[in-house]
Amino acid sequence: MSQTIVIAEIAKGAIHPTTAELVTAANALGSAPIVIVPCTDSTIADTAASIQGISKVIALKSDIFATYDASSWATAIDTIAPSGTIIASANPQSKDLAARLAARRNIPVVQDVVAIEGGNLVSPIYSGKAMQTVSLGGDAVVSVRANIFTASAQGASADVSVVDATGDVATAVEEFLARASTRLDVAEANIIISGGRGMGSPDNFSHLEKIADTIGAAVGASRAAVDTWEPISHSMQVGQTGKTVNPNLYIAVGISGAIQHLAGMRSSKYIVAINKDADAPIFQHADYGIVATWEETLPVLQASLSAMMN
Ligand SMILES: Cc1cc2nc3c(=O)[nH]c(=O)nc-3n(C[C@H](O)[C@H](O)[C@H](O)COP(=O)(O)OP(=O)(O)OC[C@H]3O[C@@H](n4cnc5c(N)ncnc54)[C@H](O)[C@@H]3O)c2cc1C
Repeated sequence: MSQTIVIAEIAKGAIHPTTAELVTAANALGSAPIVIVPCTDSTIADTAASIQGISKVIALKSDIFATYDASSWATAIDTIAPSGTIIASANPQSKDLAARLAARRNIPVVQDVVAIEGGNLVSPIYSGKAMQTVSLGGDAVVSVRANIFTASAQGASADVSVVDATGDVATAVEEFLARASTRLDVAEANIIISGGRGMGSPDNFSHLEKIADTIGAAVGASRAAVDTWEPISHSMQVGQTGKTVNPNLYIAVGISGAIQHLAGMRSSKYIVAINKDADAPIFQHADYGIVATWEETLPVLQASLSAMMN
């Protein structure tokens, strides 16, 4: 296998833990990657250097990395990255970057990889109805879904070199308005309680929030819920076009279990489904199923969990 290059995932000015998963993916392709850290402050690269299984770290430092600008980021990274297979995270921003890097290098891009088997890449196609296996005949740019690969352990101390990058920013982001939320992100949570269209109205998500607060869970949603109700944020969406989650416990409430939803949560350790329709497909994938309305079930669940936690 040729050289692999991991583009570190940066969130709130720090290395995101997903980066260690990208290293595992690179290792599965048979090489110890170079990790490129796009940053404004090169000291954050030390976190990347401690990930086991890498060869070295390049802290690519520039003011252009303060906010995402596709053109200048791709130019700067393309200039510094050696030839090889580039691995990035499969979030919307990094997938955009992956496509641009592939176009600049005239190499293929494979998005949303969920497994690497014998050097071949597996990713969903046709809205998640089928999986394709791609065998690489040369360099490529690959985006890898979060929460699928086990994160490579910490404890290494790879060399870090700092490279100053310059670049012309084509589009400047003047202001970034994040929806105010103090809730846990579904992609990071160990317990998730998600609501679907069966919740009936966005106001009813308060019942899920109450349970989430009791057990330290994140609140997720189906695409039908986020598309129908403006107050239900897209950042809560679990599934093929939302986030991939891998919690110990996933509680699906009023969610039918469409294949695209399953694509994002099927690998949860335990799945509990609450649905009034005994034939809902979600029950085929649930470890525990409750055939009842959420109106009947959630108050009882809330009371039992509160009693357990006190
Ligand atoms: C390209 C593509 C990508 C997609 N990506 C995603 C994705 O990332 N994530 C995603 O979730 N979907 C995605 N979808 C949409 C997906 O196909 C389904 O439409 C969606 O998941 C359905 O959401 P739902 O289960 O909340 O709604 P519904 O299918 O309408 O199901 C609602 C469920 O609630 C139950 N219910 C109703 N009332 C109650 C009650 N009072 N108590 C208990 N249960 C009740 C019903 O029995 C039903 O099973 C995608 C679709 C396409 C085409």
